[in-house]
Amino acid sequence: MSDRKGLTPMMAQFRRIKDEHPQAILLFRMGDFYETFFDDAALVARELEITLTSREAGKGRRVPMAGVPHHAVDGYVAKLLDRGYRVAICDQVEDPAKAKGLVRREVTRVITPATTVDSRALEAQVPNYLAVAVAGQAGEAVGLAVCDFSTGEFRATQIGGQRWQSELAEELNRIGPRELLLDEQLRQDAGLGRLLKAYRLAEARALEELEADADRAARLLAEHLGTVSLTAFGLEDRPAATVAAYATIVYLRANQAQTNHLASVSYYDRAATMRMDPATSRHLEIVANARDGKRAGSLWWAMDMTRTPLGSRLLRSWLLAPLTALPELAQRQAAVTELFEGAFCRAEVRQVLKDVQDLERLAGRAGAGQATARDLLAIRLTLQLVPKLREALAEQSAELLRDVVARLDPVPEIQDLMGRALADSPPLALTEGGLIRDGYDAEVDRLRELRRGGRGWLAAFEAQERERTGIKTLKIGYNRVFGYYIEVTRSNLAGVPDDYTRRQTLAGAERYVTPELKEREAEILGAEEKLFALEYELFCGLRAEVAEASARLRGTAGALAELDCLAGLAELAAARGYVRPELADDDRLEIGGGRHPVLELTLETGFVPNDVAVGGDGPRVLVITGPNMAGKSTYLRQVALLVLMAQVGSFVPAAAARIGLVDRVFTRIGAHDDLAAGQSTFMVEMQEVAYILRHATARSLVVLDEVGRGTSTFDGISLARAVVEHLSRLGAATLFATHYHELIALAALHDNVANYSTAVLDRGGEIVFPHKVRPGGADRSYGIEVARLAGLPSSVLSRAGLLLRAIEAGRGVGGASELWLVPPTGTAAMARPEGAGDGRGVDCDDSDDGGAAEVAASEADDASADGVATPGGEGRGRPHRDRRVAQRQVSFLEPAPSPVLEELKSLDVYGLTPLEALNLLARWQQDLRRGGGERT
Ligand code: ADP
Ligand code: MG
Repeated sequence: MSDRKGLTPMMAQFRRIKDEHPQAILLFRMGDFYETFFDDAALVARELEITLTSREAGKGRRVPMAGVPHHAVDGYVAKLLDRGYRVAICDQVEDPAKAKGLVRREVTRVITPATTVDSRALEAQVPNYLAVAVAGQAGEAVGLAVCDFSTGEFRATQIGGQRWQSELAEELNRIGPRELLLDEQLRQDAGLGRLLKAYRLAEARALEELEADADRAARLLAEHLGTVSLTAFGLEDRPAATVAAYATIVYLRANQAQTNHLASVSYYDRAATMRMDPATSRHLEIVANARDGKRAGSLWWAMDMTRTPLGSRLLRSWLLAPLTALPELAQRQAAVTELFEGAFCRAEVRQVLKDVQDLERLAGRAGAGQATARDLLAIRLTLQLVPKLREALAEQSAELLRDVVARLDPVPEIQDLMGRALADSPPLALTEGGLIRDGYDAEVDRLRELRRGGRGWLAAFEAQERERTGIKTLKIGYNRVFGYYIEVTRSNLAGVPDDYTRRQTLAGAERYVTPELKEREAEILGAEEKLFALEYELFCGLRAEVAEASARLRGTAGALAELDCLAGLAELAAARGYVRPELADDDRLEIGGGRHPVLELTLETGFVPNDVAVGGDGPRVLVITGPNMAGKSTYLRQVALLVLMAQVGSFVPAAAARIGLVDRVFTRIGAHDDLAAGQSTFMVEMQEVAYILRHATARSLVVLDEVGRGTSTFDGISLARAVVEHLSRLGAATLFATHYHELIALAALHDNVANYSTAVLDRGGEIVFPHKVRPGGADRSYGIEVARLAGLPSSVLSRAGLLLRAIEAGRGVGGASELWLVPPTGTAAMARPEGAGDGRGVDCDDSDDGGAAEVAASEADDASADGVATPGGEGRGRPHRDRRVAQRQVSFLEPAPSPVLEELKSLDVYGLTPLEALNLLARWQQDLRRGGGERT
């Protein structure tokens, strides 16, 4: 490249190193700074809000430069990682003072979002996963490895079959990797690519070509794990998983990461847990709210009563992977129950847990060679708490709790070693001493003594010199540049003896040295330097010991996490009045007095409990109708959430619950705007529904909310009906909420379909939603009433009422096109004092045109009266309208008698010919104009 020519030697060195790390931002150590150059500099200056400067790069050319002080580099790196960048740290690998010519520099670490162990770059409650997927051999399963480098969690699985793309994307969505690596074949797979994009997963990076075939990968992986075979890890005969796991190690090693703590890898079987598609976890807001993707407002947020980040992270993974096998679930529930009933034990356990630190990540940092002395101290303090927990749990008999106790290894060797070796409150820095406890190492003690002796000598020397010179304010000081000195203030300079040599002049004082002082200085500083180096060395030894034990520490950490999680669920149940759900391996779901776990916390007005019963001898499909805002969506989510909670082993917010385990929960809720993924809302809606219909089984719970809303009314109703019918045939437990009240007719046509509806009350002329869901269908949508509550102008409301009637009348024959036959309103709307015959036209328009059109429309209604089928299959006409509601609606317009309206009320509309109707209409209009129709 031409721009390389004429670079200064150092810039040439930079270029060469940067070329080896094209994907990373290169932080290049120069003196006390880490500098970036060229494009990196512009990027870093922008992202970190630091000054962009420039530097002479040879031949008078200046190149962009931006740098950060070396001691603050970690904080800046954390920010860059947070934004998804990778950073290569290039250090001086020889002492600049001793270097001949240019100092040798090398990249000592590449830090990527998934390989950092720095707590500043990590979210305490969220795992930090690296996911690596590799294509299998022809026709075989894909391998997937998942590694949380910060904790040492490392597992792998295989995904095969026809739907591997969606299953892989689903699993990746559940994992939510910070970094995703795909081999070339997977990167080329268009179907997978589309799914990953739709799920907005981390941008997939290319995995460097692996030279290993399955056998070689197995051998090298075993070598890394220090075993002869992979049988113990369940990876034998799972070539794709093995290659993926091996590729993970290769990637980490390429980043110069120490991988001691990845001491084992386990095969995991996805069948043991509920599969969860991305739409479902998003719609149900399981770990993130749909608004801004944050934790607040999610199910996890509402349920999290854990006391450690370990427990919080585990709860999160439990919620994303509910159990499907009854025995395992029963065990978890039994443990929660025992802690729920044993309030005293629970309180004790939680009291101790409060002081437990994030042992997983501490052990991870040790394993990665990056633990500080404070980290090791935290490990020690946490291990010390383990016996207390074991003691507190001594009386518990639940199998899982016994198991937890057995796994709570206090790792006494490490505790003991740290207790003997580590100082009680070590500083953050590792190179300034203070790390090692007195009495642990004889040489450390000796050097400390020497240093202390030096200090004593300095104090004596100061006193002696004051005495000798008579200068009372004379003092001994120290700085890095000049070492120890004697300081004399300006007013006392006359008393300075001849043997003092001046070193530095300040505004108000002079600084001197003497040969004696310099001699001692060499001794003191020599001891200090040696001491610091030795302490650091000893510390590294301790850290290595801890790294060796990281597998055991991880075991203890896992048990702590589980205990915290179980105790947290027990506490949750006690604090919120949850009940233990009865679990069964069948298809009957019954909840009495169920509450929404999140809304019950956030609703200020109080939450209204609701019941549900699906399956068993009763219906499998519930069609839930009712006006907007009456609580349908809430009810649906609540049922789905309670089932998930039960299958996580938690108690549930209800008066009573009996839950037949489901194999999967599917949801499609609301018309989500997915424009960010470049798809239309309706397209997304249909894709999600298609997915559900293809994957649901008779043991699934399907929750569909307003499916078909994204298109025109008639398409929508038709699709909605077809979907309900499909699910009814399938026999999946289905809750289907719709504002298409026409769908209530389905209950009559299908045995396993029943209607539920949200109640509507009229309180003194205002409609109120008591949020009660009860058996039976809704009579209508109340859309206009809801709009009225929302404050739409009455002219708009009355116009809408008119159009609605016209459309409804026309539906049987001409479809929605009838809408456009209704002429626009001419005059301002006036409320008419009484409803039309069906109780619906409460607020109709008084203009001539409108009135005529209304009759025209009702003619069409008439024509369809004899049996043109609605989508529900029912005859037309208005047999299901509820008179009572109609009366109430009327009341809010203060009815006043009007002869015309009285006549209209008693009129047999269906007995009229169109001509008679027109004549009648003309007469009424005349009456009204004459004043005969006025209110009295
Ligand atoms: P719909 O889906 O029928 O339009 P939603 O389920 O969205 O209605 O509910 C609308 C609002 O009503 C919710 O945001 C909530 O504030 C309130 N709500 C719903 N269900 C209940 C309930 N059971 N108890 C109290 N308030 C509720
Ligand atoms: Mg809704």
